[in-house]
Amino acid sequence: MTLASIQAAESKLLLQTYERNPHLIVSGNGVYLTDGDGRDYLDLLSGIGVSALGYRHPAIEEAIRIQSTRLLHTSNLFYHEGTAELALRLTEISGLDRVFFCNSGTEAWEAALKLARAHAGVLRSEGKQVGTKFLALEHSFHGRTMGSVATTHKEKYREPFAPVMPGVEFVRFNDVADLRSKFSKEFCAICIEPLQGEGGIHPVTQEFFAAARELCDSTGALLLADEIQSGMGRTGEWFAYQHYGIMPDVTTVAKPLAGGIPMGAMLCSEEAARAFTPGMHGTTFGGGPLACAVAIAVIDTIRATDLLAHIRDVGGYFKSKLKSLAEQHDCITDVRGMGLMLGIELNSSELAKNIASQMMERQIIINRTSENVLRFLPPYILERKHVDIAITALEELLTSNAAFAGVTSTGGHANG
Ligand SMILES: *Cc1c(COP(=O)(O)O)cnc(C)c1O
Repeated sequence: MTLASIQAAESKLLLQTYERNPHLIVSGNGVYLTDGDGRDYLDLLSGIGVSALGYRHPAIEEAIRIQSTRLLHTSNLFYHEGTAELALRLTEISGLDRVFFCNSGTEAWEAALKLARAHAGVLRSEGKQVGTKFLALEHSFHGRTMGSVATTHKEKYREPFAPVMPGVEFVRFNDVADLRSKFSKEFCAICIEPLQGEGGIHPVTQEFFAAARELCDSTGALLLADEIQSGMGRTGEWFAYQHYGIMPDVTTVAKPLAGGIPMGAMLCSEEAARAFTPGMHGTTFGGGPLACAVAIAVIDTIRATDLLAHIRDVGGYFKSKLKSLAEQHDCITDVRGMGLMLGIELNSSELAKNIASQMMERQIIINRTSENVLRFLPPYILERKHVDIAITALEELLTSNAAFAGVTSTGGHANG
C-alpha cells in the first residue's frame, strides 16, 4: 500500500485522534528509521521515548526470538519465569521494594492512584487522618484514562470527558508556598513528574521536591513520581528522582521499559504495597512472558554496555551544543533537561512548528511539545556524530527562519 492509499483508508476507518506526519515508516536500524521510499531519518524522538535501544537491537531481537519459540502468554493465574527476574532488576535500580506490572503508562499511573487511595484507607483504619484527594502539578501529564487524565493539568484533555475523577487540585509548578498552602490531611498523595515531559521538559526544583517529600511524611500521604518518560535511564540515572537524592513512595515506568513492546510498571515501597491484597487490582496481559523477557534484555543491555554513562556523556554534549545555539540565536529562550531528555524553548510556537517540520524534511525527527518547545528524546545509543548532524541542521534552519521570518510551513508536525 502507498502512503496516499493508507492515508485515504485511515481517514475513513480510524477514529481521528492523531495528527500524523505524512510519512510511512517501514523499518528501522540503530538510530535511523526508513520510509516506504527508502529514505532514512535520524530519529531524535524514539517513538516518544520508547525505542531506547534504537531499532533492530540484537539483544531485543534475540529475546523476542527465543521467547516466541517458548511462550507468549500465561495470564496472571500462573507463574512464569520472567516476572520475578524483572522485578528483581527493577527493585535494584529503583531502590523501591515491590512491582506491579501492566501494559502502558496510563495503566501504571492508574495503579499508583488506586494504591494511594487504598493506602490512605489502611491508614484511616489504623486511626490516622488521611483523606482521598490528590495534589498534582500545573502542566503535568499522567495519561488519558479517567484517573490519569484527572491528574493531568491541560483542560483540553479533561473537559470533554467531564466529570473525570473528582478530588484533584493543582499546585503552581515549583511554587513551594502554593504547595504548602494547598496541602493538608485531605490528600492521599502528591503527584510529581520530577522532569515534566509533555509539559515542556521542566525539572522540579530540589526545594519543591523536598517540600513534597516532607509534607507527605507529615501525614502519611504517598509521594508519587511519574517517571514514565524520564525513567529507565533516560536522564542518565535510572530514575530522575535519583538526581535529587529523594525517594518517592511510588514510581511509574513504561515508555522505554520493554524497548518497544508495550509494558508498564508501578514500583512502590513495602509500606505502600501493603494496601493491595489479592483481587484488589489486576490485568490480563500485564507482566506477560514476552514483555518481561524483552524488558530484562533492555535492562541487562543498559547495564552491560554502561549506557547510563554514555547517556550522561552524549546528553551533556548535546545540551552544551544547544546552549551555544541559544547564545547565537535570540529566538531560543531556554535550554532544559537532563541526559537524553532535552528541550529548547523558542519565542514562538509558529517557529517551533516550522522548525520541527523542516527538520523532518531534512530527515531528522524531533517533536514539538507544549506549543513552543522542541523536544529531543533520542535512543540511548545516540552518538556525538548524530548530535552534530542535528545541531548543524538546527543551526541552518534557525538562521534561515530568522532571515525569512514569517515563512509558513506546509508540513505536519509531530506533536506527542
Ligand atoms: C506518556 C506518558 C504517560 C502516559 O503513558 P501511555 O503509555 O501513553 O498511557 C504518563 N505519564 C507521563 C509522564 C508520560 O510521559
